[in-house]
Amino acid sequence: VIELKNIHKSYGALEVLKGVSITAERGHVVSLIGSSGSGKSTLLRCANLLEDSQQGDILFKGEPVTWAGSGAARRPADARQVLRIRTNLSMVFQQFNLWSHMTILQNVMEAPLTVLRRDRAEVEQKARQYLDKVGIGDKCDVYPAQMSGGQQQRAAIARALCMEPEALLFDEPTSALDPELEQEVVKVIKDLAAEGRTMLIVTHDMKLAHDVSDHVVFLHQGLIEEEGAPDTLFGAPKSERLRGFLSATH
Ligand code: ATP
Ligand code: MG
Repeated sequence: VIELKNIHKSYGALEVLKGVSITAERGHVVSLIGSSGSGKSTLLRCANLLEDSQQGDILFKGEPVTWAGSGAARRPADARQVLRIRTNLSMVFQQFNLWSHMTILQNVMEAPLTVLRRDRAEVEQKARQYLDKVGIGDKCDVYPAQMSGGQQQRAAIARALCMEPEALLFDEPTSALDPELEQEVVKVIKDLAAEGRTMLIVTHDMKLAHDVSDHVVFLHQGLIEEEGAPDTLFGAPKSERLRGFLSATH
């Protein structure tokens, strides 16, 4: 569904991504792990074009992003393509970013109504269905501040699902949560993986990465240091850096 080929990204003189290639095939879960500052969030933002990369190709369902300009001046050339890709790669952030003045139902309905211009009755039915799916179907009329962090994050996942995207991108979806609330969200992510959803997950939770992934990528200073099947990567890490990283996270 999504292919990143040799992605380079700098902020001024700081080279954050130095040529990273990742493919998430339909129905596969790819996890991205690595130390703080290794470029994980930047890579996700480049993937859904929230951020412009300066070199490399991004393909969505085999269709390459068309660019105008090059290097630091490179921008996507086709606004409709950007919108199509962005709405099809729904992102769930560490901070749930729910609208505080809207109820949970309104939060989930907002983007399908305003961005996709879908029919209100149809969107409401879907929104209720996705809120049920993440276990908070009884919270439709509640405001975000009245919910726990785990419930808010599950609402944010329902909101992403309501766009009916081709793939979900998660950026540390559990790291703002207390351990007991974290498990509620982990369960939802595991259910989505079991359903065969395509997902790209940045996580510090090695157990989650091990349990849900088809493929795990260890990023170090903007480059892939090691990647592979979860059993191999976690069970028999080859690189010294990955071994150090894994022992530090346990
Ligand atoms: P973490 O685990 O802490 O979330 P990360 O792997 O997600 O880290 P990124 O957020 O991708 O790391 O950041 C990679 C590097 O890019 C860091 O050195 C960061 O300071 C820098 N960076 C990120 N965003 C910007 C920005 N908008 N402007 C300048 N530098 C940035
Ligand atoms: Mg990050």
